Amino acid sequence: MTHNWNTIRDEVTQYLQDLIRIDTTNPPGNETRAAEYLASVFKREGIEPLVLESAPGRGNIIARLKGDGRAAPLLLMVHLDVVPVEPDKWEHPPFDGKIVNGYLWGRGALDTKQLAAMELMVMLLLKREGKPLARDVIFMGNADEEAGGKLGAGWIVQHHPDLIRAEYAINEGGGFGIEFLGHKFFTCQTGEKGTARFTMRTRGRPGHASQPHPDNAVLKLADAIQKIGAAKFPLHVTPTVRVFFESVAAKLGQPYAMFLRALLDPKQHDAVMPRLPISESMRSMIYAMLHNTVTPTILHAGTKINVIPSVAEAQCDARLLPGFSADDLLRELRPIIGNHVEIEFQDNTPGREADHRTPLFETITRVMARHTPDAPVLPYLVVGATDARHVTKLGTRVYGFCPMFAPMDELDTVHGHNERISIDNVLFGTRVLYDVVSEFCSDTR
Ligand SMILES: [Zn+2]
Repeated sequence: MTHNWNTIRDEVTQYLQDLIRIDTTNPPGNETRAAEYLASVFKREGIEPLVLESAPGRGNIIARLKGDGRAAPLLLMVHLDVVPVEPDKWEHPPFDGKIVNGYLWGRGALDTKQLAAMELMVMLLLKREGKPLARDVIFMGNADEEAGGKLGAGWIVQHHPDLIRAEYAINEGGGFGIEFLGHKFFTCQTGEKGTARFTMRTRGRPGHASQPHPDNAVLKLADAIQKIGAAKFPLHVTPTVRVFFESVAAKLGQPYAMFLRALLDPKQHDAVMPRLPISESMRSMIYAMLHNTVTPTILHAGTKINVIPSVAEAQCDARLLPGFSADDLLRELRPIIGNHVEIEFQDNTPGREADHRTPLFETITRVMARHTPDAPVLPYLVVGATDARHVTKLGTRVYGFCPMFAPMDELDTVHGHNERISIDNVLFGTRVLYDVVSEFCSDTR
């Protein structure tokens, strides 16, 4: 079937504008309004959606296109909430959905209402053409991802798993183009890191601040934090990351290929890392892809300026590579901070890694080779966390793939000021996603 992509571009852009204009800042969320909006579009097109609230105002929407059941369903998932804004820091208001010079501005334009609009559009196109499907295609727009997903994907997995049970899911987290040493690549997220948040606590002798002594909880905590900042954690190369760098090396050729392979070698890693001619944000991302990390974020100590407190605490946000536990992290942390600092873990979600050698990944690669022949698709480890952590509990293979040409400085507006997406990207993502879903779901392998 031939499509009029100019008309489709305008239509999907309108959906994205409408979604941006519905303020779903979390907290408080109010995702029900966005869910109801999507429901009205689905209903208009003859698709009967379900809107389910996990709490007042915290709406989730699920819609399904039936296949003939020869293959297991594909889930198109996306979160509808966004992070807060500082509106006075924006060049164009964050909830107006203004289009300026080919860019649509607003909170959620890249994280991740653009994917909601694209997935919606794909569902509508499949429905309109009455395409015979071998798999059900399920759409899930959910609440609360930005606060951990307990009232969104986590809630659906717990209370309505049968509504979203699928073999594969397409989610946020990958799909963007990156430029690396002059070569273009696209990512497809096949893994993400886990979390292990903990409190680090030191104790000492209380006393009057006029008589300083070294057994001071604040000084001990500062010492531990300083050591974490200066430490080199051990290098770990997970399968996804190995394939990622080896594919990049293969495309780049020498001399960079040698550098990239050295990056994965524990003996050479530290020497090579600072010499790579890449941006600092890329460098810190690569570090995080290859190490468990610990970031102190919140400090607590003392109540009065002239009293030495007996306890000092730091909250630390640690991120674990797939395959590593909180105990593994502790084994790496102890030699750095010593044995006298108390560590108390609060939460621990393991990382995950899905095999990329699957029919869906193959379809993505094949489709992208048509759309961007010079930019191969690489399996990719996301260093943050997404709703994939909930949905993988149902045995679903989740790939992060929202296709976009996105230079790093545009991606840096995610969670920052002036978030925006080019209209070209809205169309590109929709076209690619449509091809992937329609080819994968009419495929009968
Ligand atoms: Zn997001």
